[in-house]
Amino acid sequence: MNDYRQLRINGQRLWDSLMEMAEIGATQKGGCNRQALTDLDKQGRDLFVKWCEDAGCSVTVDEMGNIFAQRPGTGCKNGPDLPPVLTGSHLDTQPTGGKFDGVYGVLSGLEVIRALNDAGVETEAPMEVAVWTNEEGARFSPAMIGSGVWAGEFDLDYAYARQDKEGKTFGAELERIGYKGQAPAKPRPLAAAFEVHIEQGPILEAEEKTIGVLSGVQGMNWYDLTLIGQPCHAGPSPMEGRRDPFMGLHRILDQLYKLAEEHAPWARATFGDIRVEPGSRNTVPEKLVLAVDLRHPDQKTLDAIDQRFREIAASVAGETGLEHEIREEWRSPAVAFDTKCVEAVRSAVADLGYSNKEMVSGAGHDSVYISRVVPTSMIFVPCEKGLSHNEAENAEPKDLEAGANVLLHAMLKMANKSG
Ligand SMILES: [Zn+2]
Repeated sequence: MNDYRQLRINGQRLWDSLMEMAEIGATQKGGCNRQALTDLDKQGRDLFVKWCEDAGCSVTVDEMGNIFAQRPGTGCKNGPDLPPVLTGSHLDTQPTGGKFDGVYGVLSGLEVIRALNDAGVETEAPMEVAVWTNEEGARFSPAMIGSGVWAGEFDLDYAYARQDKEGKTFGAELERIGYKGQAPAKPRPLAAAFEVHIEQGPILEAEEKTIGVLSGVQGMNWYDLTLIGQPCHAGPSPMEGRRDPFMGLHRILDQLYKLAEEHAPWARATFGDIRVEPGSRNTVPEKLVLAVDLRHPDQKTLDAIDQRFREIAASVAGETGLEHEIREEWRSPAVAFDTKCVEAVRSAVADLGYSNKEMVSGAGHDSVYISRVVPTSMIFVPCEKGLSHNEAENAEPKDLEAGANVLLHAMLKMANKSG
């Protein structure tokens, strides 16, 4: 292996490819609507596959429609073939999505392969780019189902039976667009997996850092908290003696915000939805149902927050004469990325001299599931005002170029055993 430290991706070509892909499903406000398994998704996939074949890759599609484009490796000297180094993300978007979420990760992988081709650099391990099906979960719920089935989180039949709003199933739509492949949707030996993604939050931009080196993904717990009191007339009923769910709720919220503060800067407490019954202006409500979202990157801390949340709800309900119930809706454990992969990213960033920050992801990504079966880590680049899942989503070409260079060098570090 020669000295490849001078190797760089072509930022202009990466940008041009992003803009060309963004024309498929382009919206009037400059975003993209290319939802999973639509005709537009098919067009985007076809374009990606063509680009990969033009770059000399062999393309495989699995039974979930996940696409794998492989650039062969040379193998170890006198040794056996090596497992591929994978990168990838998703091409599907939200209905009012942007040009970069997911797509940037896929096309950076392609750009890595194009750059290796241009420089005539061979790697011992094959290099592979994956497109994971239906990451967004906008058309078919749940999100990240392509990588989820592949990693063993969901059954194939469960995935095929998911329906969109019109009652069309995932399986039928996958077949209709011609992307129900033959390869089994399950793990095979892979040396490492990387994903480069826009941050979708404001931290890198605010701190003027170019690269986020990710050590993991926040754990998240979703609950419905129900508080039940006694409905009564807003006028004749004195304030004391009321069993008003809101009187309990404001104390609970106060304590939960304090709890998040105690675990700053990483804890998150969000109450995104509330239902009030009977929902009448001049009646003390009988019932409140509050959607609770609690997050922390460290699983032990998240467990402790979960415990405190339950204690707070129980004690406030007791003090205010309310009945309460906590129903757990969903739980996604915290992810700690593979230390070797994180180190590969860290040292690629150091070699390239980019400003950087160690961080965790606050959003879910395909890498959450991939990391269960393959050593994995992620790279973030800033996006304008932290805006994502929005047609105005934007990122600087120079940051996108930097992230793809980090991806290139992190992949090279994992792809060459003897280099
Ligand atoms: Zn994404």
